[in-house]
Amino acid sequence: MAATIYSSLCPADGAWDGAVSALLTKIEAEKTVKDATVAVKLDLSAQDVPPALVRALCDALKARGAEVFITDCAPFDAGALTAFHSARSLGFTPEAVGADFVLADGVKGTDYDLIPMRGGKFLRSTKIGRALSDADCIVTLSRAALDQETGYRGVLHAVGFGCGARPGKVDMLTTGQPVVDPDKCIGCGKCTGVCEHGGTRIDPETGKAFIFKLRCAGCSRCMRVCPVDAIHPDYNATDERVRMKIAEAAKSVCDHRACLHLALAGDALLAADDPTALDAGCADLLGADEALRISIDHAAEMGLGTKDYTCERI
Ligand code: SF4
Ligand code: SF4
Repeated sequence: MAATIYSSLCPADGAWDGAVSALLTKIEAEKTVKDATVAVKLDLSAQDVPPALVRALCDALKARGAEVFITDCAPFDAGALTAFHSARSLGFTPEAVGADFVLADGVKGTDYDLIPMRGGKFLRSTKIGRALSDADCIVTLSRAALDQETGYRGVLHAVGFGCGARPGKVDMLTTGQPVVDPDKCIGCGKCTGVCEHGGTRIDPETGKAFIFKLRCAGCSRCMRVCPVDAIHPDYNATDERVRMKIAEAAKSVCDHRACLHLALAGDALLAADDPTALDAGCADLLGADEALRISIDHAAEMGLGTKDYTCERI
């Protein structure tokens, strides 16, 4: 059965209250957020979500009985202070948006909840930033974008990748198995001693360790014992696999918590409680081709909503 997504033109005068309130009414947000602690999940790497829109969303949620904070996990390649700086420089101050910023995954990106993932191909669990996991409800506000560097980044990316604490993001971006840097390895054998799967071996010819991929279970224990940091994650995961993992992480988030989603795409603001339908709508608006819709296809296959939708304009 097709899902309904709702769309409103972005207001030319920057007054978002009417559009946001109408969209929240359409997706029956009050049923979900009344008396709930709501995490408004922003994307601190997106430079063009106006603080006035965040303000309108926070105000509209509070008017529906929610207690609201804004949040994001720290960027994958930066720390907590960068996240706080980003929130401030993007204008997401308490005075401007009417809600405090809480860093979702702590100072070092290690404050997360381990959430089981069911029905996927690659992930068995996801690591969701603690503040997001502790909220009664997550409302995501993101911008769907199509660019040469990252391809299509939409709603499922904002939910799956965005809610992941740093180790969870590493799980999504890597093959799941580490690699050994032979230039650093001193052949001490500590990694072979801790591996319970026979996944690390010393090459008798070179005296250097290597990962035996048929045995490696991806537990990362060897990385933690290497005295010279010669073992590191393998970031050569295929784009297809990364996108499927992101869909799996999104399913894990949405299975775990009540979620509602708003997304900017082009000159429209869209909303739905089905992230897959909303992502399909954003991808259509932006003209993303089929090759970039791997997350959407995989999410629909797993039963995280549907990619069949009708769009009601308000
Ligand atoms: S990641 Fe775990 S299973 Fe794989 S080689 Fe290292 S210790 Fe062994
Ligand atoms: S623990 Fe590190 S240095 Fe020692 S053999 Fe393994 S990879 Fe090489």
